[in-house]
This record gives sequence, C-alpha cells and structure tokens, in this order.
Amino acid sequence: MSTTSAGLKLDADVTAFLSESLQKAFVNGQWVEASGGQTFDVVDPGTGGKIATVTSLQKDDVDAAVNAADAAFKAGTWSRMPVSERSAVMHRIADAVEQRLSQFAQLESLDCGKVYNQAEGDIQGFIDTFRYFADLAQTLDYRNVIAVKNHEAWVKRHAWGPCGFIIPWNFPFLLAGWGLGPALAAGNTCVLKPAEDTPLSMLYLCHMIQDLDLLPPGVLNIVTGIGETAGAAVAGNSLFRRMSFTGSPEVGRLVAEVCGRNLVPVKCELGGKGAALVFDDVDIPETAQKLVEAITFHSGQVCCDATRWLVQKDIYDSFVDECITRMKSVNIGYQLDEGTQMGPVVSNKQRERVLGYLEKGTAEGAELVLDGGAADVAGRDGYFVKPALFAGALSNVAAREEIFGPVAFLAPFESESEGVSLANDTEYGLGNSVWSSDLARCARVAEAFESGNGWINAHNVIVHGVPYAGVGKSGMGGGVVSPDTLNDYLRPISVVRPL
Ligand code: NAD
Repeated sequence: MSTTSAGLKLDADVTAFLSESLQKAFVNGQWVEASGGQTFDVVDPGTGGKIATVTSLQKDDVDAAVNAADAAFKAGTWSRMPVSERSAVMHRIADAVEQRLSQFAQLESLDCGKVYNQAEGDIQGFIDTFRYFADLAQTLDYRNVIAVKNHEAWVKRHAWGPCGFIIPWNFPFLLAGWGLGPALAAGNTCVLKPAEDTPLSMLYLCHMIQDLDLLPPGVLNIVTGIGETAGAAVAGNSLFRRMSFTGSPEVGRLVAEVCGRNLVPVKCELGGKGAALVFDDVDIPETAQKLVEAITFHSGQVCCDATRWLVQKDIYDSFVDECITRMKSVNIGYQLDEGTQMGPVVSNKQRERVLGYLEKGTAEGAELVLDGGAADVAGRDGYFVKPALFAGALSNVAAREEIFGPVAFLAPFESESEGVSLANDTEYGLGNSVWSSDLARCARVAEAFESGNGWINAHNVIVHGVPYAGVGKSGMGGGVVSPDTLNDYLRPISVVRPL
C-alpha cells in the first residue's frame, strides 16, 4: 500500500501503475508514445496535484490505431470467433475487473474526483454491462428467415468493422463499458479516446487485458490525447464503420459534421437540462432528499440530472426550505475520504464554469436562495464547490444552459399542463422526472415529456434492458444498454432468391 498526496492509502498495484513516468497509449496490443513525444498531465481534482503524465497522440498515431483495428477485424480472430467463445471472453474480462474492483475504483475516484463508493458503482456498472451484452449476444438470431411469396429470403447479421468512441470525463469507465460492451460482443474492433482529464482507468484496463492475454492485438485500442488533436483524428477517420460520441452538444456537432462528410454513421449522446416536476401530494422531506442526492451525486456532473426543479405552488415554500436545509448539510470533502458525500468537480476549468454561471444567473435577475460558491476543504487544494439553488424566471441563462455542477434552478407551477409545458420548454431532452403519489398522473406526465427518458418518483434511473437516449440537443441516434444497442453494432444484409 502507498499513499496519495492527500495521505490516503492506495492499493500497491495502483501505486505501481501511477509510478510510471509516462502513461502510454494502447495500440495493436502494444504500449506506444506519440510520434513527436507530446504529453499532457493528469491531476487529482481533490488536490490539484499531478498524478500522471500521459502520451498525447497526434493524427498519424491515431490513424495507425484505426488501421490496427481494421486489420484485426479483417484477420477475423475476434470478429469470426464463435459467439459463445466471444461471450466467454467478455465474461472473463468482467470477472477480472470484478476481482480488481477496489483498484479500479480507487483510480477512477482519484482521476475524476468521484466519491469512492460512487466510483465503485461505476465499475460495477461496467462489469454488469459486459455481462449483459455477453449474454444477450448469445440469444440473438444472426440469420432470420423471412417468409415472402415466391422468394427465398433471409437477413444475415455481421459485425460492422472498426468502431470509434469518444467519451467524456464524468463517467470514464462506465461510459466506456456502455460503448465497448455491445460493440465487442457483436464482434467489432474498437478505438476509444478517453477524455484528457480522465484517461487512467482505461489504460489500467488495458494492462489487465494484456497481462491476462484476454483479447487479440488490435481488438481494443485506447488512444490518449487532446480533443482537438486525437479526438478530431478519431472523428475524421473514414475507415470507421460506426462512430459513437458522448459529450457536449458543441463538440457533438463537430463530430457529427465530419462523420456526415465521411458517411460514417454516428450516434451522439449529449448534454441535458432535465426537469423534476414535483406535485403537491408528495412526501416533501423524502422528495427533497432524493433531489438533493441527485444534484450532489458526482457534484452534479451528470448529463441526465434534474437541474430544473418545478414545484407546485401550494408546497413551493416548504419544499424550498427543506431542500436548502438538506443541501447545507451535504458533507463536501476529498473524494477518497470516508464520510465524503460530495467531492470536487473534475478540473479548475469546470469549477470556473460553475462559479461563472452563479454570476451570470444573478446578473440576469435570478435569486440565489442558497449561495453556493467555492468550498474550502481543510488540507486539500482541490476544485471544490458548494451546492447552490437559484430561483426565478426560467428564461434565465442558469435555467436554460447546462451548468454541469451542483446547481439547481427552482420555479413554481400551478396546473399539470403548465408544469408539463415548463418541463418541455428547453432545447434539451434527456431525462425528466415526475413526483406525485397519484401514479396515474405520474404515468400521464412521464409519457408527455419531450425527452428520451421519463422517470417516476426517482431521477437518474438507468436499467439494463431499457433504452436510454436523448432527443433534441441531448443527442441523436443514441441509446445504450438495451437490445437495440447490440443491434446497432450488427450490420444486416438481406439475401433474396426469386423462386
Ligand atoms: P466535451 O464535449 O468537451 O468532450 C468530450 C470528448 O470529446 C472528450 O474526449 C474530448 O477530448 C473530445 N473532444 C473535444 N474536442 C474535440 C474535437 N474537436 N473533436 C473530437 N473530439 C473532441 O465534453 P466533456 O466536457 O468531456 O463532458 C461533459 C458533457 O458530456 C456534458 O455536456 C454532458 O452532459 C455530456 N454527457 C452526456 C452523456 C449522455 O449519455 N447523453 C453522458 C455523459 C456526459
């Protein structure tokens, strides 16, 4: 065991991994450096201290990784492996991650500032996702006969080829699992670019895969680097047969544009500005508690979070008081310390963004009913912020734009129809929730949301088997962790013979 700069014990294997002077990218089963020697630093958001130097791949380096994925696909060792064998490998990867769950969780917590037990949940989510798709892949019919008059016809499904993934920093390991799980289970080969803030857990995974000889070379390639360089090179490589981008709408547009030019099918899982519609028949303390837990979970850096809390007029004042009391008592601390409920945000840039929205929202006339602002955590020089609550007109910038921090915006409504129309009055459409003891009303309202997901008396509910995706500025062509996702990674070919 060793210690972090903040004095916490880390597993010896994690310490050994972090003691490498340079973290290299994983391409074609080898550890590679950027051709020009470029690097970038990764910091612990809880201390601001450097924890790794990582190779920063350039366009040619990324292109080499895509070529390797293409060659590995064509070689067929993975893509033509019998489904049952491929599924067994997926299970072996899941089992191996599970045996190292605490190591992965420590690294994830350290790298993105996620509270340790939340990081454990993410790692478990990756494991469950690999198992889900490994099992699902074995139940599919890869050849479906179609009954048509005077013809013999069937549809055969193959893997597509090399698939590209660009992912953000808020759930680095889990989102990688949501992407890689279905793509690999279907027999594709993958090139994944982690966010520059949080590349470590993916590299640790590749060490494990290499040590245990779990995948043939070139099947999984991790290209570390900066968005504008390595990310743009992934987005622009026309050898890909599928592209998956998760991140901000601004970068999503760039990726979709270049994929459009290359005619590479792309799915975009983007941001959100979710609403929680709270009716006057709720249990006020219980509902306030659940929403406070949601907005402080991973310091509010959750795309589908409830960031607009719309509360029926009769209970508005008491609901707001209850929320303020609970938000004030959230224990802000170092992410690996026991008892911490909310850790830092991922970077100084992200903290500046959150603090900037507190200023911009106030300047446009919203009231901060709970101030928020930078938080001091004794002995840690990290990027901590306090939870904040705005109240005011929903035309305010803080009610319309994604802040990505522990900040919610309150507004009252009177009737059900007014509440639904306020919830839907946004460019985003990822996850909204309805809170009421009248379940018929809940079902009606949830179905009326113009979003990919409608949740009842809960928020951020993501269950294997149920499609999760966004509409509008929250994404296009997306969807994860359901049978549809696996089908996305299979190329259908119709075969027809006139009789
Ligand atoms: P971001 O868009 O800045 O970055 C995402 C990824 O894109 C990173 O890997 C980055 O390096 C890369 N990138 C940056 N510029 C690029 C370019 N020009 N070309 C190609 N790639 C480039 O997003 P972020 O700040 O890392 O993450 C936060 C955003 O992600 C929020 O908007 C959040 O809502 C969204 N998100 C959505 C989902 C979902 O499932 N819908 C899940 C998690 C996060």
